Amino acid sequence: MSTVKVKGLKKSFGKNEVRKGIDMQVSSGEVMCIIGPSGSGKSTLLRCLNRLEEIQGGSMTIADKDITSSTIDINKARENIGMVFQQFNLFPHLTVKDNITLAPLELGRVSKAEANDVALKLLDQVGLNNKADAYPKSLSGGQQQRVAIARALAMSPDIMLFDEPTSALNPEMVGDVLEVMKQLAADGMTMVVVTHEMGFAREVGDRVVFMDGGYIVEEDQPEAIFDNPQEDRTQDFLNKVL
Ligand code: ADP
Ligand code: MG
Repeated sequence: MSTVKVKGLKKSFGKNEVRKGIDMQVSSGEVMCIIGPSGSGKSTLLRCLNRLEEIQGGSMTIADKDITSSTIDINKARENIGMVFQQFNLFPHLTVKDNITLAPLELGRVSKAEANDVALKLLDQVGLNNKADAYPKSLSGGQQQRVAIARALAMSPDIMLFDEPTSALNPEMVGDVLEVMKQLAADGMTMVVVTHEMGFAREVGDRVVFMDGGYIVEEDQPEAIFDNPQEDRTQDFLNKVL
């Protein structure tokens, strides 16, 4: 069963064609890690997946919904797609708990008591059960990112997209965030993770995609990509980062 199916995806900014006919599939419960140099189109690909970018061609289905269809309610579809960015983008004037319950309450899906219960469970899951009433600015970057993950999970998404979730963190904060993501993967979440953490990609990824120049250059199991890359460009990139 394929949760994400991308076929012939085309994306350009003016004359600059960034995604040149991308095909990609992610199965339910699979963790796909996307690696590649800066400017290779990794973020653009993720942003296309929840239609934060307009696309110029191709089709994308997520959980059997054609999200490129002109009739789809894209806001509804996005409720199913959790997104975690490099910058955590928490609301500074809201407590941790209120950041997490905001969207579910606005959608009228749950009562306040239910939303609070879920928030506390999620905070426990990300190792922050004592921070419910704290404000974001009192937290470290790593803690804020874990709140951002909890906030995304509060919508019960089918899939989680991560765009370099640890790149803005001090090195000592990275491990805790990766640990939460690793646990999420072990619990069966379908995840697409753009990352510079090659150790994470190797250990947690079911498949690794190497992108360069707007293309998927190579895609395989982590051991194959890291130990025996088939393409020179993959090898060059790994030589620089490993
Ligand atoms: P990555 O995440 O791999 O670093 P991006 O997806 O951010 O790469 O960018 C891919 C290419 O698209 C780059 O050449 C970048 O300059 C270009 N690009 C990204 N966003 C925009 C935009 N909003 N307008 C114009 N060009 C963009
Ligand atoms: Mg990027």
